[in-house]
Amino acid sequence: MAFEYPTQKAIEKLCKDLNLQKPDAYEQDWEYVNVDETRIAEFIDYYQSGCLDDETKFTVMIIIIGSLDDALCSGKFESAQWERVKSILIQEQDLHVNTIKYWSCEDEANLENCFYITPYIREVEKIKTILVNVSYLIEVEEDILTDSAKAETFQEVVFQKLSTHRKKKIDEKHTAKWVGDSFIVLDPEKMNCGMCNNCGGWTTDREKENPIEGLCNGTTNDGVLLCDECKRFNNQ
Ligand SMILES: [Zn+2]
Repeated sequence: MAFEYPTQKAIEKLCKDLNLQKPDAYEQDWEYVNVDETRIAEFIDYYQSGCLDDETKFTVMIIIIGSLDDALCSGKFESAQWERVKSILIQEQDLHVNTIKYWSCEDEANLENCFYITPYIREVEKIKTILVNVSYLIEVEEDILTDSAKAETFQEVVFQKLSTHRKKKIDEKHTAKWVGDSFIVLDPEKMNCGMCNNCGGWTTDREKENPIEGLCNGTTNDGVLLCDECKRFNNQ
């Protein structure tokens, strides 16, 4: 979920946890009053303590970026601190989307009219997201699928097993975050799918209507469905 402004709850929590200045009744820019270039490492440690909810993370990140901006201005900027912040922003881009937009000054071509931190924030925006689909097949007894209560329970068990780690580390730089799943009972009579005539693997005919995303591609020749791999082999 993306926030636009710090919430009262987050402000109160941060005042308490980090001993920040409490907001005046009419204060609009509480988060900017509390930027502090001498406490950046402490703020980042706090962010990464693992016990903050999203609205607190969102709010403390504004203070961190404001503090980094001050540090750039005063010559006390430490790139190791920025690297930590950058990897948080990349991994949790959806939470900080409005903050990133604000500091990146996207409509301003002349950097002299932007913040000191703007070129750094623009690096984060150059990172793109890919959606990876991995498909599994499970052979299931029919009675499970025809009983809606049983089917629902089974579906839950399957998702629990397959998405045990909602975040998976791919390598030092990349993390995959689980975002969704789908569950389809394959029906060759009603759907564009069937078993490959050669290897018996589930296949969809990509030249026909509504191919099923995630199944191996194949084609039908003279009424015989072959997966692409078997077809390639047959043609050799
Ligand atoms: Zn095949």
